[in-house]
Amino acid sequence: MTGLIKSLFSKKSKDKESKRNSTKALQADAPIILKRDAHNVSRKSISKNALKVLYRLNDAGYHAYLVGGGVRDILLGLQPKDFDVATDATPEEIYKLFRNCRLIGRRFRLAHILFGREVIEVATFRAGHETSVLPNKKGNKNDHARTSDHGMLVRDNVYGSMCDDAFRRDFTVNALYYTVKDFSVVDYTQGLRDLAERKLRLIGDPEARYTEDPVRILRAIRLSCKLNLDIESKTSAPIKSLAPLLEHVSPARLWDESNKMLLAGHAESTWNSLCEHQVAQFLFPQTISSLNNSNEPIIAQDFLSFITTALKNTDKRIANQQPVTPAFLFAVFLWLPQQQLAAKLKAKGIPPYEANQKAASKVMTIQCQSVGIPKRFSMIAKEIWALQHRLSNLRKKSVESLIANQRFRAAYDFLCLRAGNDESLSKLANWWTEYQEVDTQGKLKLLKEAQGNTPQKRTRKPRKKKAVKRAK
Ligand code: ATP
Ligand code: MG
Repeated sequence: MTGLIKSLFSKKSKDKESKRNSTKALQADAPIILKRDAHNVSRKSISKNALKVLYRLNDAGYHAYLVGGGVRDILLGLQPKDFDVATDATPEEIYKLFRNCRLIGRRFRLAHILFGREVIEVATFRAGHETSVLPNKKGNKNDHARTSDHGMLVRDNVYGSMCDDAFRRDFTVNALYYTVKDFSVVDYTQGLRDLAERKLRLIGDPEARYTEDPVRILRAIRLSCKLNLDIESKTSAPIKSLAPLLEHVSPARLWDESNKMLLAGHAESTWNSLCEHQVAQFLFPQTISSLNNSNEPIIAQDFLSFITTALKNTDKRIANQQPVTPAFLFAVFLWLPQQQLAAKLKAKGIPPYEANQKAASKVMTIQCQSVGIPKRFSMIAKEIWALQHRLSNLRKKSVESLIANQRFRAAYDFLCLRAGNDESLSKLANWWTEYQEVDTQGKLKLLKEAQGNTPQKRTRKPRKKKAVKRAK
């Protein structure tokens, strides 16, 4: 299909080249409309629930389009992750049409139409905040759109036309609209051509668009890796210098974005791209500082391959439809910082157990200032760390209780990852692998062998009680 789009655009591409870089020139253009037989978006590739939403809105007299990743991914021959709808109905009007509707969001007011586990996100056409067509009752546009001291858009509820809506989206390939009225694809921003050329291009002035919303930096990196698109040069140029703006984004939003980056099956390439664009330090500051520690280059190198292997494994698991948890990956990212801090505390005379606990809490607290890991995940990461120590205790009682621990599997996987090129850790990891595979007799044999190799626990003689002189 991309071939079809390509042939359509190759003729016109040269004369439009000069206009491409100017948003104003683009905005003045009428949209390109691909009729149903000129593209591969068909109702078969769209979820039934998304179609229901589109038809219901149309039947009630509103315009409604499938937009964003749904259209983009189908055009690329991929299976969309979710379906987003854009319409001229306001959130309140949408709410009246669907019993299963929830209105959400402050920054963007959106309607979620819930169909069991599937959520169809329906957004009212919006304008860039300078082009509001719907001022509030007092005629004050600022009530709908507001920016922070750093130029970030903190409220963006200015409704607009479909064309306005296209130009306020992030990338040209994300601003393609599909309608079930005549099954055409509508393109205001030359997204079809960029798709055919496999280019990810921000709409408008890249610096202004990143400043307005620095998360677009992460979206550029994530989408280019996920879709195998090149970030167009003007879109990639300001990334490095504007990445510090990510410090002003809420940790909760960065948590959501990090999850999308790490759990979409392209974690390794996304991590590499985050590092290349010098963005990673604003998400994982402690990890990057451990990796950049020039005093211990070998440790840093081992840590990098530890991270890379974990990301590779995650991508493989996702490809095989096995479950993954972000807790494991954060345990990986923060392992060396936690170990280094624990070592410092131990050097100050704090007992090992306490030092490890303190270091784990401190490292998590610092991490949560950039990417806000919810407690239920940070707890799991800390448990994985705490179990590493227990995994080296091969006494029967300890082994049996560890195997029954609900974090055993994650802790064991973590140990295997740590083993890397380390001979003694590999031996330990192999012992646990074998232990899980053999029958009861085999288990007893392994425990016995391990006992032989483990120094016996010192059993203290009970202290002699001092004879207590009876009070006369
Ligand atoms: P995917 O769902 O596959 O991760 P997507 O592009 O659909 O990718 P969503 O987060 O579902 O991502 O967003 C839907 C659409 O909303 C995008 O395609 C884009 O048009 C618009 N959008 C999302 N985030 C932004 C943003 N930060 N700035 C401007 N437009 C955005
Ligand atoms: Mg989407």
